[in-house]
Amino acid sequence: MLKVEHIGIAVKSIADANRLYETLLQVAPYKTEAVESEGVLTSFFKVGDTKIELLEATNEQSPIAKFIAKKGEGIHHIAYEVANIEEAMQRLAAEGFELLNTTPKKGADNKLVAFLHPKTTAGVLVEICQEIKKNS
Ligand code: ZN
Repeated sequence: MLKVEHIGIAVKSIADANRLYETLLQVAPYKTEAVESEGVLTSFFKVGDTKIELLEATNEQSPIAKFIAKKGEGIHHIAYEVANIEEAMQRLAAEGFELLNTTPKKGADNKLVAFLHPKTTAGVLVEICQEIKKNS
């Protein structure tokens, strides 16, 4: 793993949470992006070398809607950056981690992403992500 790329936080209202995080971090979100396939609206804040990703559900079937119904607002996942997501997925599967995706999918913020089931990662949903490079 290269670094903690971002921490994902499930929120009920991204508008309210944006104001809260702007005040908390003293920086405006640099990006707001909908990920239709996941049923989420996201916004991103830079904090030094890492980021905070706020996630609001856009429909009832969204994993974020289910998370909030069960646990309320709070930390949803931790994302680690990797150089090669396919290699990382193969290695993690071989080590016995349960992957929630069989192939990397397109996530927010120009990333390929895959998730590890919290039951194999001490209760924390883990995302691994790789930047999608232009011209490749
Ligand atoms: Zn994420």
